Amino acid sequence: MTKSASTFALAFAFCSAAACAQTTAPAPVPPAEVPDVIVRKAIPIGEPSPMKTDALPRVLPADAKRVYSQCVVESNVIAITFDDGPDPKGTPRLLDMLKERGIKATFFLVGKCAATWPDIVKRMHDEGHEIGNHTWNHLQLTRLKDTKVMSELQTTHDAIFKACGFAPTLYRPPYGATRLAQQKSIHDQFTYTCILWDVDPNDWRSPRSSTKVHDRVLAQTKPGSIILCHDIHHETVDAMPSTLDDLKARGFQFVTVSQLINLESRTLAERAAFVAAAKAADAPAAAPSPAPVSASGATPAAPGAPAPAASPQHASSAAIAH
Ligand SMILES: [Zn+2]
Repeated sequence: MTKSASTFALAFAFCSAAACAQTTAPAPVPPAEVPDVIVRKAIPIGEPSPMKTDALPRVLPADAKRVYSQCVVESNVIAITFDDGPDPKGTPRLLDMLKERGIKATFFLVGKCAATWPDIVKRMHDEGHEIGNHTWNHLQLTRLKDTKVMSELQTTHDAIFKACGFAPTLYRPPYGATRLAQQKSIHDQFTYTCILWDVDPNDWRSPRSSTKVHDRVLAQTKPGSIILCHDIHHETVDAMPSTLDDLKARGFQFVTVSQLINLESRTLAERAAFVAAAKAADAPAAAPSPAPVSASGATPAAPGAPAPAASPQHASSAAIAH
């Protein structure tokens, strides 16, 4: 029995026992119905999640999608990201704050900045943060020819690897702007996954304000969120102590983007297995049938499996200026 199925069975048994204790002549019990809704396990505010985040894989799962703006998870787990650095003033200060709180973040670096401050890149990597590619010149990819797009990514990839020995697997297009064809060709050439966001405090927009950054992040963040910030703005870095502490106080745990994608992969697999097990238990025992095989020879996904939460079509219209 899966973890989710066993949780449901336990909850059902408890509820049934409680109902029986209040009646002397139990009414006929209706036949059990196969649940088609998965109930999220709520984590009270301020209570630490039992998730062991350090043990989560840091390599993208084999079924990773080509683009994400958030992830489907069942725990209060989120990823915070910082773009456009490294910055010689803001980034080391931010790294101190993250280290003090045991928080792992994801940095999308501009290649020419990574090449200028390789020691900061190495510190990010050494302290357990994830590093992604944000192009060399921070140009809008939709306005570039394919050869220029690839050179922007390749030079940045090389600068990051030279600085810290880590080969990125994620990229974030400047301004969140890419075409679907570009996403495919970038994935084909670099095996990169495109990372957008669902929480945007607009911290680049003037007049900048630490209070606005804090309030907007707290208002928008939910389980599975990918938060967009910029460590090149001192107001954003100034906002981080209270922002990070208040997110933690609400029960959120921080992981890197690749770890969050691994959690989504696990969550969707568990949901599909739960639904398949429930349907199998409800099917007539005398009528087993082999798994259907498509014309191509592939076994289809489990019946009732949920569709992916994020669509690649979100990508090209996601952002204004980053
Ligand atoms: Zn940017």
